[in-house]
Amino acid sequence: MASTTPAVGIDLGTTYSCVGVWRDDRVEIVANSQGNRTTPSYVAFTNTERLIGDAAKNQVAMNPHNTVFDAKRLIGRKFSDSVVQEDMKHWPFKVIQGPGDKPLIQVEYKYETKTFAPEEISSMVLVAMRDTAQSYLGPSARVSQSVITVPAYFNDSQRQATKDAGSIAGLEVLRIINEPTAAAIAYGLDKKTSADVSGVRHGERHVLIFDLGGGTFDVSLLAIDEGIFEVKATSGDTHLGGEDFDNRMVAHFVQEFKRKHGGKDLSASPRALRRLRTACERAKRVLSSATQTTVELDSLFEGIDFYASITRARFEELCMDLFNKCMEPVEKVIRDSQLDKSAIHDVVLVGGSTRIPKVQQLLQNFFNGKELCKSINPDEAVAYGAAVQAAILTGSGGSKVQDLLLLDVTPLSLGIETAGGIMSVLIPRNTTIPAHREEIFSTYADNQPGVLIQVYEGERARTRDNNLLGKFDLSGIPPAPRGVPKIKVSFDIDANGILHVSAEEQATGTASRITITNDKGRLSAEEIQKLVSDAQKYAQEDEQTRKKVEARNRVEAFLFGLRNKLRSEPGAAERLTPDERHSLDSTLDEAIGWLDHNQLAEAEELEHKQKEVEETLGPILAKLYGGGGAAAGGGATGGGGGGGGAGRGGGGGHPVVEEVD
Ligand code: ADP
Ligand code: MG
Repeated sequence: MASTTPAVGIDLGTTYSCVGVWRDDRVEIVANSQGNRTTPSYVAFTNTERLIGDAAKNQVAMNPHNTVFDAKRLIGRKFSDSVVQEDMKHWPFKVIQGPGDKPLIQVEYKYETKTFAPEEISSMVLVAMRDTAQSYLGPSARVSQSVITVPAYFNDSQRQATKDAGSIAGLEVLRIINEPTAAAIAYGLDKKTSADVSGVRHGERHVLIFDLGGGTFDVSLLAIDEGIFEVKATSGDTHLGGEDFDNRMVAHFVQEFKRKHGGKDLSASPRALRRLRTACERAKRVLSSATQTTVELDSLFEGIDFYASITRARFEELCMDLFNKCMEPVEKVIRDSQLDKSAIHDVVLVGGSTRIPKVQQLLQNFFNGKELCKSINPDEAVAYGAAVQAAILTGSGGSKVQDLLLLDVTPLSLGIETAGGIMSVLIPRNTTIPAHREEIFSTYADNQPGVLIQVYEGERARTRDNNLLGKFDLSGIPPAPRGVPKIKVSFDIDANGILHVSAEEQATGTASRITITNDKGRLSAEEIQKLVSDAQKYAQEDEQTRKKVEARNRVEAFLFGLRNKLRSEPGAAERLTPDERHSLDSTLDEAIGWLDHNQLAEAEELEHKQKEVEETLGPILAKLYGGGGAAAGGGATGGGGGGGGAGRGGGGGHPVVEEVD
């Protein structure tokens, strides 16, 4: 195949991420090096290395403070954001306030305190996803372009920050698209012509996307018309998902453990709890296809083995209230869109937790038995659609090429504060943008010379519970009794989601205005540049670690291989004199001792050590391995080249001791 630059589609999830590539006229979801088609959005820092994905999640019990997840909950937000403040209480890793009120994640890495922007953590996950795609496509194609998905409710700053994460990862981001849109594209719903029940009207198609993931639940209602996607409404729960179901099962087994073992509370041990949680997540997945499964954990707590079984029915009972809760946002988006549920053409399942049969059943019942779109694995549908979009944008999608347009809605209501701290809404949530609204306000005191216009976003009745976006003064109001002056307040949101607010006193024409760019927490160009070079630095460090591990493998394989040869082949040892035997044993002991005491040795030191041993033992090796091979082996180290002889690492980090006959 000629060298190409394929674009990948990446679903950068809160708990799991997934990557798809377009190949041979179809989407391929790529499994990572562990063989998993989704990768935990986890990054861990240890005293020796940085880990991403499954490797990071697997060691979280041992290293909770330096294992970072949920970066998506931080990206594009400010530290003082109440969402961030609330989430922080539940994270084992530390988040601090950086310059400009940006949140920074603080960890210990290689014995030093380091801070990372959420964009940086996300960029590390993106690099892992890119590498997964890269190793599948092979060296003839270099992955450098991507389409990345975000939730429909992400604001401009969260979208920009996600795009920045792509840049830091060295990926050109062709487009940021909404997750529900990607899922609809995966099912080709944009290409289906729609007809209403009587089969006459063609045009708009209404698609409900039900996305129940690891920690978040998003419901979106899209209207698709000739390739144009309009997000009609969004709803959901930012803290509801698979992890809550895991927790229910954990609590159940903690009780069972108490009952079986004289009241012992295993939750006293974070490690036991973590092991149980991992086992419960696995059991939960099994229960989506089997009706019963077991959890088996040796020496779980105080040396006690724990074996238990659980049925699907029991699991459903444990989670039933949570499952039921998932139906409310479905009703809400339909209500917000002013539709009837019979007007929904398609219902699409997205997110790993929609594999749970009970969830599917409740949703299907809600839609009076309607068939749900579930033929694409729900945890892969978003990446699938992103990969289709990537192919479209790079022109590799062939005849199917069609550029897709996106229209968004305001995720929150926008308004101003009026007397008594009341939120007066001008633009309700879920209004399609661009939008323009105006309303007349007045003064609340006699001869009031000016008004303070305070702009808020949020759904609460009192502004103190909503989010202040900005404020400005309008002064020079001519003296008049309260309620007489007419002040026209206008809200304008342009296609990029940027809000302009103006106020005008009608009698005099005095006006004042403010532009709210929604750039809360955005990084500057210089900051991004710095993070890009940091990312390269970390990539180099990872590479060094990899080399170190390979070098250690090589020298260990060489030493232990030699020792095994002596033990397993009596004939070999007999070729040596007692002095040579002694010299060989002590050199091996010394070298192995050195390795044990120098766990952090660099690749060069390890290679040097191997060379030293090979030189010391040169003549002995020649005798052992018979002739010229050993001489060749004695010389070249490090490069991995060399002819025969002992201790040549075969490529790929799996060194072997070769024998030369
Ligand atoms: P995200 O929420 O990060 O986008 P996913 O959509 O991949 O992530 O959802 C991850 C959640 O899906 C996890 O809680 C996982 O345990 C759950 N999950 C994955 N497969 C199954 C399954 N077969 N049955 C039940 N839950 C599953
Ligand atoms: Mg998701």
